Amino acid sequence: MVRERKCILCEIVYSSKKEMDEHMRSMLHHRELENLQGRDCSHECRVCRVTVVGLSTYAKHISSQLHKDNVDAQEKEEQEEAEEEYFDKELIQLIKKRKEQSRQERHTPPKAEN
Ligand SMILES: [Zn+2]
Ligand SMILES: [Zn+2]
Repeated sequence: MVRERKCILCEIVYSSKKEMDEHMRSMLHHRELENLQGRDCSHECRVCRVTVVGLSTYAKHISSQLHKDNVDAQEKEEQEEAEEEYFDKELIQLIKKRKEQSRQERHTPPKAEN
């Protein structure tokens, strides 16, 4: 049985842990994270277990050799499909809040500022 993994932030579903993990460290995901949390928010690299500040710093990090080595090592290491916590509670709340807001915006058309 294939368990689906969903990025609740980007609303993309993956059928394998490998794809999900790849997504979680992709620029696509981290750009979305920045949209949600604002500029210069922190970006966690789950593979290297480091947190960097700002999207450009993160982009630099994932193109570094150290990061690539860690990714390679992790992919070799992983055999079992362990369930992982991809989002902490705080982030889940933020995502929910944003969904609420966009739902409300759809119901009430934005008023003109002046
Ligand atoms: Zn995502
Ligand atoms: Zn890394």
